[in-house]
Amino acid sequence: KSAASYVEALLASYPDFPKPDILFRDLNPVFADAVAFRAIIDDLADQHRGRFDAVAGIEARGFLLAAAVGYAANVAVLAVRKGGKLPGTVLTEEYELEYGSARLELEIGQLPAGSRVLILDDVLATGGTIAATSRLIDRAGYTLTGVGVVLELTDLHGRERLGTTAVHAIMSI
Ligand code: 5GP
Repeated sequence: KSAASYVEALLASYPDFPKPDILFRDLNPVFADAVAFRAIIDDLADQHRGRFDAVAGIEARGFLLAAAVGYAANVAVLAVRKGGKLPGTVLTEEYELEYGSARLELEIGQLPAGSRVLILDDVLATGGTIAATSRLIDRAGYTLTGVGVVLELTDLHGRERLGTTAVHAIMSI
């Protein structure tokens, strides 16, 4: 079975969460199935195999993916955190969310300049979160290899916002 077929089978949808008119997609049932989780991690690691030196996971569900893909691909792991949680010298990007606005941060100097980074997150919605993360990667002096997500919500046109970046979605709806 393909990774996409596991996502399709296990994905849960919640109308009006966390606010009216938002259809929230819950991937926790995919993470909670060991066979499905292994399939999505292998899929994400294989997509850009040999072309990244690090994975950057976006808080919080992106961390789960980045830790596993980093281990599977034997590469470094970067944590892109929500505002105000990182010590030392940090880069900051403000961005708009599907519901509200937020801030993402990355510590500088963790990898050699020019390191090739793959961004990972659970869901690509409007693309604001991943666009902000790609600016952080760029400002930190790294090269963006591409983006991997489990689920792309095509109605929100996030991919268009990411320009020429190679975006791999296990499933698009
Ligand atoms: P974007 O910035 O692309 O609009 O939103 C993506 C971010 O919001 C991701 O970090 C993702 O975790 C979260 N997000 C937005 N919509 C959903 C959704 O329907 N389900 C889940 N699980 N996360 C969502």
